[in-house]
Amino acid sequence: MTVTDLVSYEDALASYDPVMGLEVHVELGTKTKMFCGCSTELKQDANSQTCPVCLGLPGALPVVNEIGVESAIKIGLALNCEIADWCRFARKNYFYPDMPKNFQTSQYDEPIAFNGYLDVQLEDGEIFRVQIERAHMEEDTGKSTHVGGATGRIHGASHSLLDYNRAGIPLIEIVTKPIEGAGARAPEVAKAYVAELRELIKALGVSDARMEMGQMRCDVNLSLRPNGTETFGTRSETKNVNSLRSVERAARFEIQRHAAVLSSGGTIVQETRHFHEEDGSTTAGRIKDNAEDYRYFPEPDLVPVAPSRDWVEELRKGLPELPRLRRARLKEEWGVSEHDMQSILNAGAVDLIVATIEAGAPADQARKWWMGELARNANETGRGLDELPITPEQVARVAALVAKGDLNDKLARQVIEGVLAGEGDPDTVVEKRGLKVVSDEGALSTAVDEAIAGNAAIADKIRGGKVAAAGALVGAVMKATRGQADAARVRELILEKLGVEG
Ligand code: ADP
Ligand code: MG
Ligand code: ZN
Repeated sequence: MTVTDLVSYEDALASYDPVMGLEVHVELGTKTKMFCGCSTELKQDANSQTCPVCLGLPGALPVVNEIGVESAIKIGLALNCEIADWCRFARKNYFYPDMPKNFQTSQYDEPIAFNGYLDVQLEDGEIFRVQIERAHMEEDTGKSTHVGGATGRIHGASHSLLDYNRAGIPLIEIVTKPIEGAGARAPEVAKAYVAELRELIKALGVSDARMEMGQMRCDVNLSLRPNGTETFGTRSETKNVNSLRSVERAARFEIQRHAAVLSSGGTIVQETRHFHEEDGSTTAGRIKDNAEDYRYFPEPDLVPVAPSRDWVEELRKGLPELPRLRRARLKEEWGVSEHDMQSILNAGAVDLIVATIEAGAPADQARKWWMGELARNANETGRGLDELPITPEQVARVAALVAKGDLNDKLARQVIEGVLAGEGDPDTVVEKRGLKVVSDEGALSTAVDEAIAGNAAIADKIRGGKVAAAGALVGAVMKATRGQADAARVRELILEKLGVEG
């Protein structure tokens, strides 16, 4: 199917009701792997972070990573799930070269967390509740690199390289119940859910959840049913979608594709699909019918996981404020609109602004610099705000210098520019560039006299009562002082000297 075979989004929704299921894999930020003591540090030589356990050598015995279990419980609690009293790992048996044990240690019918929900906020402010089926523990596979072909895919490659450093890194898989009732907003719900989940995971401190680094990836299951009917249609499963925007686009594309197939009398095949960033399309992967049989059975080499209720309650008490509620609180405290808050969130500026305020800046100043000058610079240089070489403390220092009257906005921008250019901290830049507001009355007075003398016609107009013309003289003084004069004081001086009331 080509993109032109799609039904328009509006037409698709006029006839069909989308049902979605989102499966999110999160790579935990533990120091060691899930079942052995190998480091999870990936920036090492291939296969250097391996041992008999994660290489699946005969006789090797796994041991559960306690931090992995703790992280899973925290995620489960934050998702309002029930936490199992007792559960086991299971072997999911299949062969693939990136998995040397020939089974993945996972959980099957006994997940550690189940029956929860996550409330997500849509762009219009509405809260949509996504029901959670389960969150379970498992391990990542190794990484294959296919060499010799044009595309980097296995087809056309001459050989493949295998790196098992990633094999055994702990993953939590979070699976939603079928998401119904989102209608045309299904793609938006999908994106908002993954965004909220990512914020939650970060707030819990269990993973950095960087989607661009594969630390969090989403499978988008989607089916359509005719409007007004109950029975679910056949789903497709678009695998490993790795950005928020792509999650939304994948859902949207599948709605249009399913509608095209169904409305022309075709049937949807239950299959996995690949998402393509270039044009937002998906293409068929492997057929996946329900007869797929992994011969799951309880893992005999690991003891069951039986978290005590005391431990669970202790973890519950330690949960951080939910990101959505924290955002609502900050929005109140900062006195910003929902729209502004959304922009701040999209810019990844929430934590930076919070830290800047903690460093002593007033909220409006902190917001102004991060969302103004710094956001512009980040945009222009293709960096995230958190990648800029300036700290919240430095931004707070600039705000303090403005508050003291040592800098005006224009000079403050130059100071920030200097810090970003690596010239040092704000005080050093002020010093080196000689950027101080001239408030020395003698110097200002001279500059004002010169401006009046050099602009006699304008000065006459002002004397004659045209106070608005003073702006031109202020401009002249600012120019002469390279922007370093205190503009308000300059204006006062001009009016004083010309004998008019402000
Ligand atoms: P699998 O292992 O085949 O991926 P899972 O149960 O782990 O199956 O995940 C399937 C996901 O798709 C779940 O989120 C589930 O709620 C959802 N789902 C199940 N049936 C449908 C359907 N017909 N249409 C859309 N989503 C569905
Ligand atoms: Mg799946
Ligand atoms: Zn190992």
